[in-house]
Amino acid sequence: MTTHPDELAGLSGLFTDQERAIADSVRALTAREVEPYVADWFERGELDDPRGLMRKLGALGLLGMHLDGYGCAGTTATEYGVACLELEACDSGLRSMVSVQGSLAMYAIWKWASEEEKQRWLPGMAAGELIGCFGLTEPDHGSDPANMRTRARRDGADWILDGRKMWITNGSLADVAVIWAQTDEGVRGFAVPTDTVGFAANTIEHKMSLRASVTAELVLDGVRVPDSSAFPEVRGLRGPLSCLSEARYGIVWGAMGAARTALECAQRYAVEREQFGRPIGGFQLTQQKLADMTLEYTKGVLLAVHLGRLKDAGALRPEQVSLGKLNNVREAIDICRTARTILGANGISLEYPVIRHANNLESVLTYEGTVEMHTLILGQKLTGQSAFQ
Ligand code: FAD
Repeated sequence: MTTHPDELAGLSGLFTDQERAIADSVRALTAREVEPYVADWFERGELDDPRGLMRKLGALGLLGMHLDGYGCAGTTATEYGVACLELEACDSGLRSMVSVQGSLAMYAIWKWASEEEKQRWLPGMAAGELIGCFGLTEPDHGSDPANMRTRARRDGADWILDGRKMWITNGSLADVAVIWAQTDEGVRGFAVPTDTVGFAANTIEHKMSLRASVTAELVLDGVRVPDSSAFPEVRGLRGPLSCLSEARYGIVWGAMGAARTALECAQRYAVEREQFGRPIGGFQLTQQKLADMTLEYTKGVLLAVHLGRLKDAGALRPEQVSLGKLNNVREAIDICRTARTILGANGISLEYPVIRHANNLESVLTYEGTVEMHTLILGQKLTGQSAFQ
């Protein structure tokens, strides 16, 4: 008789009926549409039908789900978090696909674009008919986007964009790219249709992490867009950082989904696998690993719920999101690596989900602000001194 890690601390009691219902429906979708195929997609480094999958995610109301209007579901932040946890319990690439669509591309347009652009893009994006990406990182500027080189200059009533963006999730699938560029007025955002002349997306190959996710380099070579494509009001890094805070919030939850899957797998394996004539789960060292993993998983979920409730109360601050992202991704990767040891040699096989989750979390540790940058954000808050500028 074993106890599920969620039951040990009574985690399900933290959630409302509606939150549990959302978790169940996301779990049903991933079990049907992704789980049976995702190890193969990871191994091949490509998804079978990403557009079809995006439509299925849209049909369930998961795209831009915490936004209001324009066909979005308008859920609470905690409900959105619960969905992220279930998506990432399947694969971090799947959660990334949804996060970039909803929290980065759609949120940027929803928050900052003109009404005309919102009407143009958001309903199709919410339905999964149109795909978005978010271009902030460049080949030479990741953690310090303030020094980005991509430039937009006025030409009559239009803007001309030149530059390169790197490591862009959904980049070569996208119909619209949110591009952040330097202008004479500071950094500005643009909703760029990807079929505009001069725009190209090159899929990045040879990744050993997030292999069931499309990542691309974007090239902008004299891309001409009308003034209506520019986000009218926001200037400076406030624009992209507001979007990153949304996506990082989803990662706080998502990372615990990856951790849960690894923990469940290790727990099952520990009671089934026998060495020296008894289950390896009977050895104290294995029990200590499972107990420590469960402790960190439980604390991570509690933190996610706490931040979710703060966000729903309109009180969540960016440094609190940093705290959650830093802790939960760091602990999730640790849980996956420990789970891997419990599975022995089987731990490195794609027959089990553990190594896939561990490898995926290497990307999650780096994107949306590296573990180091979030550490320094907390350090700055604690000491009043900025160590990174
Ligand atoms: P760098 O900034 O060069 O950092 C390298 C190392 O130096 C890191 O350890 C970093 O923490 C450290 N470092 C840098 N500055 C400091 C400092 N001041 N003090 C201490 N340490 C420091 N970007 C997008 O815009 N859109 C996307 O959709 C997107 N998707 C991604 C998908 C994947 C799979 C990956 C891997 C990345 C993605 N990214 C995306 C890019 C990601 O956000 C960047 O990789 C990240 O911000 C780090 O930038 P960098 O890789 O250039 O590393």
